[in-house]
Amino acid sequence: MAQRVAVNDVNGSKRTSRVRVAVRLRPYMDKQDEKGEGPCVRGLGPQSLEITNWRNATETLQYQFDVFHGEQTTQQEVFLSSVKPLIPHILNGQNASVFAYGPTGAGKTHTMLGNQDNPGVIPRAVREVFQLVNTQERDQDEWKFSVEMSYLEIYNEKVLDLLSPSSQDLPIREDKDRNIVIPGLTLTRLSSFSDFHTHFVPASLNRTTASTKLNQRSSRSHAILLIKVVKSQRVPPHRQLTGKLYLVDLAGSEDNRRTGNQGIRLKESGAINLSLFTLSKVVDSLNAGTVGRVPYRDSKLTRLLQDSLGGSAHSVMITNIAPEYKYYFDTFTALNFAAKSKQIVNRPFVRETVAAPTNVTGKRSREEQEAGGPGE
Ligand code: ADP
Ligand code: MG
Repeated sequence: MAQRVAVNDVNGSKRTSRVRVAVRLRPYMDKQDEKGEGPCVRGLGPQSLEITNWRNATETLQYQFDVFHGEQTTQQEVFLSSVKPLIPHILNGQNASVFAYGPTGAGKTHTMLGNQDNPGVIPRAVREVFQLVNTQERDQDEWKFSVEMSYLEIYNEKVLDLLSPSSQDLPIREDKDRNIVIPGLTLTRLSSFSDFHTHFVPASLNRTTASTKLNQRSSRSHAILLIKVVKSQRVPPHRQLTGKLYLVDLAGSEDNRRTGNQGIRLKESGAINLSLFTLSKVVDSLNAGTVGRVPYRDSKLTRLLQDSLGGSAHSVMITNIAPEYKYYFDTFTALNFAAKSKQIVNRPFVRETVAAPTNVTGKRSREEQEAGGPGE
């Protein structure tokens, strides 16, 4: 029988928890469009986009999400809207998780990691953690904080420690308080943001080197950064609160079976499909708000995230998509996973972008204008 999932948060109040879903469209790239077909996706507003309907060229499919980040969206805007609001909870003994989902080439690593000029969610989130910790330590003498990190990868349903690359597949356990723990995983104490940088950069380089050797392993494994904040009371009764933040760059969501993989590649595809498929079931079941078995145990990824996804945790999934036709089917699949609602609209796809001037020409019908065309 269906009923709402109710959990007790630290204040004892009942609340339900769902996964917020944001979609980010990366800018159109000429070199991804050899046939010069132009984009097949465009934004409509702060929560919606449209994509050509491959079944019928006179129709488009319109989708609604919690948030839509158009191609002009900056790294800072993505951080402010989707991630920054989660950080204070970590300093208060609650857990949170942020995932980048989507096909290879759609912008997951750009969103999570970014580059020197345009840092992504990970460096911004860690910086914010230290900023809040420093402010709170200054303002509240009673509490002290410690910040720690782990960095791991799930590859072929194996849990591998990226801070200790020679380690073997690690077990995932649940302790008596229902916290998920990984015995043997390196947990490194961090004293500042630059300290984080020092540990994180070589570990992510490890991963990139492995990727070129092992045939794009980076797009076939889930990279998981854990930032753990322990808040301890300096005076009796010496309360201690632990909050965890998971920042996850997921494996590519494209259907690897379509590309004719064999042998080890096919085995990988199976493993990737299992964990992403299970993640989609978990997110669906949390967002439907029904009690039934949430299938966390069906994959390593969801088992690992069990205490930080659903329950009293705060979660955001950023689905990254690309606008070129060669990504069409993977985009379509990703949108169907991410959407709150979908609607078929009878009008041909209009080749304009959100940023284009809203200079109404004979090309746009009245219906389109009523549907609230571009211009937000
Ligand atoms: P993924 O990790 O999903 O495979 P990447 O993050 O590597 O995809 O992105 C693919 C390419 O597109 C990279 O060259 C990246 O720099 C570029 N890119 C992705 N998103 C954006 C964006 N929002 N703005 C500019 N370039 C982007
Ligand atoms: Mg990537």
